Amino acid sequence: MADKDCPDASNPTDFVMTFRDPSVIANWHAHVYFDSSSRDAAWAFREQIEARWNGKLQMGRFHERPVGPHPMWSYQLAFAHEQFAELVGWLALNHGALDVFLHPNTGDALRDHRDAAVWIGHSHELAPGALR
Ligand code: ZN
Repeated sequence: MADKDCPDASNPTDFVMTFRDPSVIANWHAHVYFDSSSRDAAWAFREQIEARWNGKLQMGRFHERPVGPHPMWSYQLAFAHEQFAELVGWLALNHGALDVFLHPNTGDALRDHRDAAVWIGHSHELAPGALR
């Protein structure tokens, strides 16, 4: 009996994929998620990031409310594709209980957020209406 949640290997239409070259990635965003209970940890994490990557990434505002498609409070880091390994490696090892949503920026916001998301910690449901 087939599991309807799994792709059927005998049906090639379940595996239609188009491959995109990473050269379309202009840069990356990392959005650090938090709420009132994790606010202080998020602020301390931000200070560590600022100290380590001072001038090497763009730090966004500390939003104490959900903004755009983000369902939690958040702040944004914008960084170059070439920094991905070092920065994301550090985030992965040091995020503690904070969740981090990463997405590339290719000029297609819906695809970038919906189909190309990378999560550190837990994933969250985005508000898709904000991406259209
Ligand atoms: Zn973003």
